[in-house]
Amino acid sequence: MKEIIETRYCDNCGDSIPETRNKGAIYCTVKCGYTFRNNRNAKERKNQEESEPGLYKNYKVVKNLVHMRILDISIETATDLGLDFNCHMGVINFDQEKETTEFRLFEYSLTISGNRIKIKKLTDECA
Ligand SMILES: [Zn+2]
Repeated sequence: MKEIIETRYCDNCGDSIPETRNKGAIYCTVKCGYTFRNNRNAKERKNQEESEPGLYKNYKVVKNLVHMRILDISIETATDLGLDFNCHMGVINFDQEKETTEFRLFEYSLTISGNRIKIKKLTDECA
């Protein structure tokens, strides 16, 4: 019996996906997948920058903090830096018991707990 080999093509660059890749792979290489997601994120940000400047400003504040490796900051300081807690991309998690709320801001998540805010980079699946 002849086996039918179906050629799959990369969602990013259009090259054929090597047989050695996973069955469910949609990119020719892992790197190509990253490129696709980076481009998508950049495009998403560009759109948001135009339609929602508040959101983009928040993103810049968060990115700067991450760059300085500040991942835990008081709400007061964050507000001073220009972070607007009304501007985010939706609540990811709400824990009534611990009284924490986690918001999404592009590839980051902000968890507010008491007077502190924790910044975390989301994994590829959520971002
Ligand atoms: Zn590719």
